[in-house]
Amino acid sequence: MLPAIFQEAIPLLKKIEQAGFEAYFVGGSVRDFLLGRPINDVDIATSAFPDEIKDIFPRTADIGIEHGTVLVIEQSGEYEITTFRTESDYGDYRRPDTVEFIRSLEGDLKRRDFTMNSLAMDADGRVYDPFNGQEDIRRKVIRTVGKPADRFSEDALRMLRGVRFVSQLGFEVEPLTMKALNLYSRLLSHIAVERKTMEFEKMIGGDHRAKALQLLLTSSLFEQLPGLSGQKEVIQEISGLPLLKSLNTDQIWLLLSSYIDGSPAEFLKSWKLPSKVIKERTKEKQILSKRTDEGWTKELLFHSGIDRAYNVEKVYNCIHSISSGAIEGLTDDYHALPIKDRKELMVTGKDLMEWKGQKGGPWVKETLERIEKAVLYGEIRNDLETIRRWLETCRQSERN
Ligand code: ATP
Ligand code: MG
Repeated sequence: MLPAIFQEAIPLLKKIEQAGFEAYFVGGSVRDFLLGRPINDVDIATSAFPDEIKDIFPRTADIGIEHGTVLVIEQSGEYEITTFRTESDYGDYRRPDTVEFIRSLEGDLKRRDFTMNSLAMDADGRVYDPFNGQEDIRRKVIRTVGKPADRFSEDALRMLRGVRFVSQLGFEVEPLTMKALNLYSRLLSHIAVERKTMEFEKMIGGDHRAKALQLLLTSSLFEQLPGLSGQKEVIQEISGLPLLKSLNTDQIWLLLSSYIDGSPAEFLKSWKLPSKVIKERTKEKQILSKRTDEGWTKELLFHSGIDRAYNVEKVYNCIHSISSGAIEGLTDDYHALPIKDRKELMVTGKDLMEWKGQKGGPWVKETLERIEKAVLYGEIRNDLETIRRWLETCRQSERN
């Protein structure tokens, strides 16, 4: 029995077949199925042209019709269905200048990057494998379809994809493919940052990330990555951290930001990450510096919030190879804080102005901060009357 994710899509394949065309599962889903790995999403390839697909299914959306991809919306979900195609004239080491729709499965599989990704499976679970992808999967080998030099010059991103598959699958790069990787790494400079970032994020999330980082070094591909050119020592050091595998993608961006020379925000911007991600990691980098210098004070924990504090502590532990359960202690400390947010203070600026009979000004903010600190450190209870009396006592002792 095929896994449910395929089962649900089989009626689509059958519908296309009934209309007189071929349809197959292709790409990563077939590879991951044969590997017994979890399947992300299923891609479907077909001999039907986009207009023919739109005639078969009532609900569709043109999401990449110029490349032959139509989104089919069915009750069981949304599926990308792509017409078999060849690609030609890669004038600029990246995307093809022209794509041509074809009717032959083999022609479509031939344009794919690696043998393990050039497999197709029909509705009955029969696998089509003209480039011996199954054998390479068994041997745990990454090999280009056709001559590696040609395939990497056509689209240089494939080299970085190779490294990310090393990271995700732990495979070895076959010797001729490796030779081309070393020879052509410079061509990666032609690739748009966004495409590099997508592959790099998958790479740093893989189980074999240390191995992949080493491969970035030996192939010199790292020289073509934003903010990492010339950072050989950094990559070397990071790849050797025993706890590297314990970090998620956000935490690895923070780790990288804390190792590279220069501004973390500039580094993250060079990868064109979303501005929210840049903001968060930049804040966390500041917290990490404070945590490194002074440890976790109640104030630092309060101002960080538990999510940021958690990321920071994970990265701190990774940098210093601390594998003990310090993280749980941190969560306990956070939950023990009398207040978690300024808004939880029982007193407001308005109260202060009323009590003192004075207009607003910088003194309000300063006083609130003093109260906040006193409440955080347990010097006073967070209760309106206690705070009022405490302020009076403070004022009296200031007068004396
Ligand atoms: P994932 O599980 O991460 O989605 P995937 O192998 O499905 O891995 P995708 O980026 O989703 O990777 O691409 C789908 C398929 O399209 C690949 O398996 C491969 O056959 C083909 N492909 C993708 N990018 C390229 C490329 N740059 N050159 C040639 N073929 C490619
Ligand atoms: Mg995929």
